Amino acid sequence: MKPSTDRNDALMARARQVIPGGVNSPVRAFRAVGGTPRFIARAQGAYMWDAEDRRYIDYIGSWGPMILGHGHPAVLEAVAKAAAEGLSYGAPTEREIELAEEILALVPSMEMLRLVSSGTEAGMSAIRLARGATGRSRIVKFEGCYHGHADALLVKAGSGLATFGNPTSAGVPPEVVQHTLVLEYNNVAQLEEAFALHGPDIAGLIIEPIAGNMNFVRASTAFVRRCRELCSQHGALLIYDEVMTGCRVALGSAQSLHARALPGFEPDLTVMGKVIGGGMPLAAFGGKRAVMEQLAPLGPVYQAGTLSGNPVATACGLATLRALRQPGFFDALSARTRRLVDGLSAAARAAGVPFSADCEGGMFGFFLLPELPQNYPQVMKSDGARFNTLFHGLLARGVYIAPALYEAGFVSAAHSDEDIDATVAAAAEAFRLLY
Ligand SMILES: *Cc1c(COP(=O)(O)O)cnc(C)c1O
Repeated sequence: MKPSTDRNDALMARARQVIPGGVNSPVRAFRAVGGTPRFIARAQGAYMWDAEDRRYIDYIGSWGPMILGHGHPAVLEAVAKAAAEGLSYGAPTEREIELAEEILALVPSMEMLRLVSSGTEAGMSAIRLARGATGRSRIVKFEGCYHGHADALLVKAGSGLATFGNPTSAGVPPEVVQHTLVLEYNNVAQLEEAFALHGPDIAGLIIEPIAGNMNFVRASTAFVRRCRELCSQHGALLIYDEVMTGCRVALGSAQSLHARALPGFEPDLTVMGKVIGGGMPLAAFGGKRAVMEQLAPLGPVYQAGTLSGNPVATACGLATLRALRQPGFFDALSARTRRLVDGLSAAARAAGVPFSADCEGGMFGFFLLPELPQNYPQVMKSDGARFNTLFHGLLARGVYIAPALYEAGFVSAAHSDEDIDATVAAAAEAFRLLY
């Protein structure tokens, strides 16, 4: 066989020599789906071009942040101006206040917030704050939810409710996760049992309100209501991890949808990232004033960051949030996403492929399953081999979706109806490869 002349292959071979697995975040390596990852050379609007100058309609959007599409003029201008003024000072700036005010106005359950540089850092800090503020150690999380790669959160369920979790990564000592209880998503009975057993020791419950790290699974209203009630009854903090859903599923984030279903509903702490940084390293965590004032320098809970509130990242986030605050932005984005999901569903039906899909705002998910799953074990019933065929069928037709079946997809404001229709046409062909 002739050696490949594809530049992506050459770059991957070179990357493997100097970066473990050739990538700086594991899912980029295409391990689940096979083949060579595309090395991206540039992006504009709804498109990305690889090292071979092949164009793809992008449904990853940097895993969520690029809600305006790539290269939005107002964002680029704000970033260029901020960069010219200084890349980093390690001292406070007015722009940090502006961004904090902007986020707090959109997500009013937060009275104060702190800016950090990644969702991992924000989630880790929120957990420390919940523990510090309550004086308790135990944390509840749900199987299939991802909250970044902090040690205490890299955990899978133990053998029963009386036992705590086991690490999911080497390098995490069992003692570090011994306070983390892992429960099944949307399982009210198990949640009640866990609080009955451990309630007085639980510092916080952390949840993705729409779980985007097991593709797209909504927390049911009944489940959200019980999470809120049990946390309140037992003095635990309810932590909404909206790193993915924040300013993505609605302007007010997923919690605004839950407040509509459950009047007065609010989480105690919220973790944000992705969209609020607009593609730059920026994330945040926030909540009620009394809890947030437990943080250093006011309180005993330590938390810090050399690049926190970075002047270029805050400029990018501000320009992004100002653009998506324009009237009608989410209606148009939601309609575009709905058009995609309906089109894919119709194409799958025509091809006789078992298929279910859901969306909210600019986020969507689909499964090669006849019905939408409600929890992680159900998600894992998806047919991995067929997904991989579909993934490569789409990629070969210029459509770039996440290279793993447990990841959500994202539509941006730059995706046109023509882009959506071209995607559906490509999917109609790709579905026929499955049987
Ligand atoms: C992406 C994500 C994180 C981690 O954010 P990073 O910026 O990748 O560290 C945490 N929680 C959720 C729900 C996420 O989707």
